[in-house]
Amino acid sequence: MSSSLPSTRGLAERLSDRGTVLCAGGYLFEVERRGYLAAGAFVPEVALDHPEVLEQVTRDFCRAGSDVSLAFTYNGHREKMRIIGKEDLLEPLNRSALQIARKVAAEWEDGERPLVAGNISNTNLYDPADPSSEEAVRAMYREMCEWAAEEGVDFMQAETLYYQREAEIALEEIQRVGLPSVLMVAVFAPGQLRDDVEPAEACARLRDLGATVVGMNCFRGPVTSLPILEQIAAKVPGPLAAMPVAFRTTPNYPTFFNLPDCGCPVHLPVDRTFPTALEAQVCNRYEMADFAVRAKEAGIDFLGVCCGGSVIHHRAVAEALGRTPPMTRYSPQMEKHFLYGSDPTLKQHNTAFGVQA
Ligand SMILES: [Zn+2]
Repeated sequence: MSSSLPSTRGLAERLSDRGTVLCAGGYLFEVERRGYLAAGAFVPEVALDHPEVLEQVTRDFCRAGSDVSLAFTYNGHREKMRIIGKEDLLEPLNRSALQIARKVAAEWEDGERPLVAGNISNTNLYDPADPSSEEAVRAMYREMCEWAAEEGVDFMQAETLYYQREAEIALEEIQRVGLPSVLMVAVFAPGQLRDDVEPAEACARLRDLGATVVGMNCFRGPVTSLPILEQIAAKVPGPLAAMPVAFRTTPNYPTFFNLPDCGCPVHLPVDRTFPTALEAQVCNRYEMADFAVRAKEAGIDFLGVCCGGSVIHHRAVAEALGRTPPMTRYSPQMEKHFLYGSDPTLKQHNTAFGVQA
């Protein structure tokens, strides 16, 4: 185990009496954007190839307001490592990512330290028509949960689970290692999980099975997540989780998988904007701040941004909920801007020109 962690309030304690836990996600897209991860394959090799990059991303997300130092092991499972021919690196990759998350939390100097979370996710192997897939999925989750427990995480996050049965297996394996759990399902355009379970029903079942926090993440942006979150909140007692993507999904295009190109002036060399041409569809910080307030009002207490989220979004979410994370130090100071500022020392011939600029 790496450096020791100061004791802190746990996940359930922080969420009691409607306290909020912020969780900055979106490591996959953020690391791809920084050039250290191949889109499509989407394997978090950065934990081994460039641990310093992952460490900085993790630290930045926490400085932007995350209460969770999340181990980037999304897709860091046996099936993905097999596809890229690196199954032998599975355990080192997991341990490296976990130790980075732990290190960032251990070094924290701005008040209560972040919670360290392990991460398991959709395996893309589960197949309801093939009962043997259940055992394969269970084995993948089991080894990852054991490594996370050995590396001393505070809780486990299971996310982007689009089959109810797979989510249940994930929960069972987290419970087996005795850790608190955040279980988040992901909802494709049809509006149900792929085994035809309604999202609210999925969350209710996971809650009944003992999940600490249940909710929804990924695939959908703020606009198409909120109605489903309200259905979940109407059916399931809290604490509830929401981590939408930071993309402008609409009722006609409810997920980021099929968003059109939004007036791109060149012919795209790819069939769809997902995942390499989505930049023009990214939500701005104000949209994510608005989402955070609405979600909180709807009864969501474990909140964050998934794919597409960057520090500007995470900080805006934190500030919208009344926080002043370390990166608030660098929040906008438009009053100093030469064209649009209000500082009395600014030159009037510039500020008057702003509307024509
Ligand atoms: Zn996501």
